[in-house]
Amino acid sequence: MKLLQDLSLAEIKKLVAEKGYPAYRAEQLNALKISNRDYSDSTNLPKALIEEISSEYSARAVKIVEVRRSKDGAEKYLFETSDSRVVEGVFMPYDYGNTLCISTQVGCRMGCVFCASGLNGLERNLSSGEMLSEVAEVNAMHGGTQKKRAVSNIVLMGTGEPLDNYDNVVKFLKELNDPKGLNISLRNVSLSTSGLAANMRRLADEGLNVVLAVSLHAATDEKRSRIMPVNRSNPISEVMAAADYYFEKTGRRVIYEYAVGKHNSGRDDLDELAALLRGRNAHINLINLNYVKERDMRGLSRKELEIFMDELKKRGLSVTMRRSMGADIDGACGQLRIKHLARRMAEGKGEVK
Ligand code: SAH
Ligand code: SF4
Repeated sequence: MKLLQDLSLAEIKKLVAEKGYPAYRAEQLNALKISNRDYSDSTNLPKALIEEISSEYSARAVKIVEVRRSKDGAEKYLFETSDSRVVEGVFMPYDYGNTLCISTQVGCRMGCVFCASGLNGLERNLSSGEMLSEVAEVNAMHGGTQKKRAVSNIVLMGTGEPLDNYDNVVKFLKELNDPKGLNISLRNVSLSTSGLAANMRRLADEGLNVVLAVSLHAATDEKRSRIMPVNRSNPISEVMAAADYYFEKTGRRVIYEYAVGKHNSGRDDLDELAALLRGRNAHINLINLNYVKERDMRGLSRKELEIFMDELKKRGLSVTMRRSMGADIDGACGQLRIKHLARRMAEGKGEVK
C-alpha cells in the first residue's frame, strides 16, 4: 500500500484533479497528512473521495506502539511502520523549544562499533512520509496542531544514517518546511552524519541550510577507521573539506560530535582533535559514550568528562557537553529498538534483523 504522507501537496493536487474533485479537497487531504488522523476521523472529506484514496494510500505511515517517560521530561517512542518494522524517536523538552529526535532508516549499514543501531545492519530506508509521520504522531500526542505546533525543533539523530537515504531525507526536509504543512523552520533542524562526504556537499547545494553535525569521535584516520568503518571510504580530510564547503555555502557553523569514552580520551586524542579543528569555525559537542552492552565500550566518569572538556577549552576550542536526557529510559541511540527486537524474538514474533 502506498502512503498518503509520501505525497507532496502538488502531488495530492494532481491526484485529486485526476479523480475529478475540486482543488480545495487537496488542501483538506494535506491537513490530514500532517495530523495523526485516519480517514475515518475526517469531518470534511466526502465519503466517495475517501473510498477512492484510501484504497490506494493509507493515511498514517507510522504509529506509536510504546512510550517510555523519563523523570526529566524526556520521552522515548517506538514507532511501528505498516510493514511491522520498528524505529525510535526521543522527545526532549528544552528551554528553547520541544525537540524531537527521529529515525531515518530501519537499522543502519555503517557499522560504527559503539552504536546499537548498526548492530544488525540496514533493513530498509524510511520514506519521507514515514519520517513526516514520526513528527505528526508526536506533535499530536502533545496536543499540537498545524498552526500551534508542540514540536519546534527536529534532530535527525535516531536510527540510521540520513545521508545514506539522501533523496527521502531531502524530500522530508522540504515537507517539514512547507508553509502549507507543519511549516517548521529548517534553522531549527539538525542533521547528524557519520561523514558521507559527497552527500554533505550535495546537501550544501540544496539551499536547505539545516544545521550539520558531523560524528567525528576520533581525529586521525587510523583511530577513526577502527571505530567507524565508513572512514575507510570517507577519510577525515575529505569529511573536513566537505564540512568546510557546507559552512562556506550555508554560513552555518558545523558541529562536531565526539562521543567520548576510555578509547578516545587520552592526551594524544586531545592534541589531535585540537590540531584538526583549530582555525575552523567549529563547535564540539561532547557526548559521554552510552554503554552498549553488545559492544562493551564505556564512557567516562563525570569528573573525567569535565577534565576532558576543560583540556579542549584550554586548547582554544569551542565546546559544550550534550545534556544527556532520558538516561533512565534507554536514551542511547538504538537501544530501545534493539531491546524491542530481542523481546519480539523471545516471544517468537519475528526474527531479529
Ligand atoms: N548516523 C548518524 C546519525 C544517527 S547517530 C550519525 O552517526 O551521525 C546520532 C549520534 O549518536 C551520532 O553522533 C552517533 O555517533 C552517536 N552515538 C551512537 N552510539 C552512541 C553511543 N553508544 N553513545 C553515544 N553516542 C552514540
Ligand atoms: Fe549508523 Fe550513526 Fe550508528 Fe554509525 S552512529 S552505526 S552511522 S546510526
